[in-house]
Amino acid sequence: MSVADETDCKHEAGIFTPVIDRSRCEGKEDCATVCPYGVFEIRKLTPEEKKPLSFLSRLKATAHGNRQAFATLADQCHACGLCVIVCPEQAIKLTRRTVPA
Ligand code: SF4
Repeated sequence: MSVADETDCKHEAGIFTPVIDRSRCEGKEDCATVCPYGVFEIRKLTPEEKKPLSFLSRLKATAHGNRQAFATLADQCHACGLCVIVCPEQAIKLTRRTVPA
């Protein structure tokens, strides 16, 4: 597989945004490593973020030190898709942002 860089990105920033499935993310950091725009931050879930998760997801989060990825700079996403490809848990999807009316 060839290594892509930011020149492979398909869209201007702000059109798509990465959405992370909290029931899948294990905080393995592949997304943070590969993203050419530094969109992701890996940090611990706050109690408020963990509370709405299912029992199994909370158990899984605990097993991984409560660390997960957050798209802190989602507005910088250029929709290259690298994070979607590298995530070993298939926890990331790109969704088109809604345009304000
Ligand atoms: S698709 Fe993923 S890797 Fe590519 S710019 Fe957006 S957040 Fe970063």
